[in-house]
Amino acid sequence: MKIQFWGVRGSIPAPGPETAAYGGNTSCVTVRAGKPEELVIIDAGTGLYGLGRQLVQGPFGKGEGRGTVLLSHAHWDHIQGFPFFAPVFIPGNRFTIYGPSRSSGMLEGILEGQMNPHFSPIYTLKNMGAQLEIHAVGDGQAFRSGSFKVTGRLNPHGTTSALAYRIEAQGRTFVYASDAGYPDEGPTPEMLELYADADALLHDCTYTEEDWPARRARGFSSVVQAADVAIRARVARLVMFHYDQDYADAQVDGMVSACRRRLDENGGERIELVAAREGEELEL
Ligand SMILES: [Zn+2]
Repeated sequence: MKIQFWGVRGSIPAPGPETAAYGGNTSCVTVRAGKPEELVIIDAGTGLYGLGRQLVQGPFGKGEGRGTVLLSHAHWDHIQGFPFFAPVFIPGNRFTIYGPSRSSGMLEGILEGQMNPHFSPIYTLKNMGAQLEIHAVGDGQAFRSGSFKVTGRLNPHGTTSALAYRIEAQGRTFVYASDAGYPDEGPTPEMLELYADADALLHDCTYTEEDWPARRARGFSSVVQAADVAIRARVARLVMFHYDQDYADAQVDGMVSACRRRLDENGGERIELVAAREGEELEL
């Protein structure tokens, strides 16, 4: 299973020389597995734009591409790349899109709203060319997508919630849990079960331990909370993700050291720590 990071920043794109090492684009990650290789895209933040430019070099450029898109939630930093994703404008390509909502119609309405002429010249999803199939995912729902077994579960996220996804293929497990703001007691037992024993847990690491208390209401995690969750869930790797837009590369470096220290001091010495960087790959 191959993981690649296309956008690792939280909330708003943060381009510039101070963020160039980790990257300034918002959430987008790909998971590839199977023979022939199948593609799952998680979240459609501005990182999706760069992915689209690469995908059109292959079958997606000829209208022969197939992909699955898993949306954690519809905050802008998780959908804003979608109207700029080149493969959706090429007829013949097919995407199956999953996301949190009470019904598939409601989820379609949310994505349709983004195309409204006030916000976008695209006007409607129907002008996009590719075939889009849209499915709502309920809390705890499991489904198959090609070679992938996917389970979604809702985490609290400020005034709303965000789906975490457990993705299993070829005997490997990757968990994506961005935009998670837990109560004092941490994740629910059901959520810890979703994370349990993953080969890699990508977890919300928006804030430093120091900045988190004042920003708690926004519904994100600190690096220390992410480390604690990784230990409780006995994962093999923790992937740091969704860094706050205000943090320059040097501050993220500091967060990586703080996270490593927290792991080492609390029984997580064997957990490998990866800080997601735009463009980088991780093989499970
Ligand atoms: Zn976000």
